[in-house]
Formats: sequence, C-alpha cells, structure tokens
Amino acid sequence: MNCSCGSELQLVRIEEGDDGQSFIRYSCPGCALEFGIEATCDEASPFFNGPVWTDEAQHYLDRMPPYLKPLVCKEVEDYAGSKNIRLLSTGLITEAKNQGTVSWHPEAETRLSRVPGPVRAMARVELERTALDRGLPEVTVALMEELKARYFGMAGKGS
Ligand SMILES: [Zn+2]
Repeated sequence: MNCSCGSELQLVRIEEGDDGQSFIRYSCPGCALEFGIEATCDEASPFFNGPVWTDEAQHYLDRMPPYLKPLVCKEVEDYAGSKNIRLLSTGLITEAKNQGTVSWHPEAETRLSRVPGPVRAMARVELERTALDRGLPEVTVALMEELKARYFGMAGKGS
C-alpha cells in the first residue's frame, strides 16, 4: 500500500480492541503521515498478502515454549487460510485450537435450556460467537450474565 506521497507505508502495529475489532497503525517514512484503520479480522484480511499477527497474538506466541510455537503457528495459519483470514488475532488462536467450536460449561448449558425456545437458538449463536471473538474456550454463566442485558433484555423484563 502506498502513501499519496509515493512512499510505501509501513505497518507499525496491530492492536486488538473490544468486540473483535483490531486497530491497524501505519506510518509513512516519506512524509511522516500516521494513520490507523479499525477493522475486524475479516474486514482487514484483504489488506494483507500473507498472514499477519496482531501484537497481542505475537506476544502470546513469543511466550510459548520454542518447540510448541512453530506448531501453533502452523495450526493457526492453516485454520486461518481455510477461512481466508489473514489477520491473526489471539481470538483466532483459540478458535483454531477449538476448530471453530466452543464448549459449554454444564451450568451454562442448564441455564440455556431454560431460555424460551425462539430466543434460545439466537442466544446460543450469540454466546458462542462472543466467546470465540474473545478467545474463550467455553461459554460460562458469567458470560451469559454479562450478555443477558444486551441480548435477552426482552425476556424476563417484567416491570
Ligand atoms: Zn507519505
């Protein structure tokens, strides 16, 4: 990607934000222009020609035992490649580990079974998606409590 001054933009850092958004910072060595793009991994992937790790994901990898790091790298890059994702976040590392699935804590499962049918399917999808976005391996009661107001506000709001 080139700056309007003609120099090639340098990727400075990629920070992970909330809700699966990443903040990608570029700077121009030619005119010292700096700017950032906020995007999800899906949206940001077309900007990159090959796999790029967020700073957090890179940091996570760097803390791994040396024998494990290349294995995890490959696993995540393969998983991301199969989904055409080129921005690799910590959430994606967990997602790759779980192969895109989240487990349910038994207590959370019980609680979900009490949610009325029409809302239940939507709640399940939202909770699993949120858990994946945040890199959580399972849906917990704590997560349900947190999202209850947001997604299940219509249920159980009596007075
Ligand atoms: Zn420039």
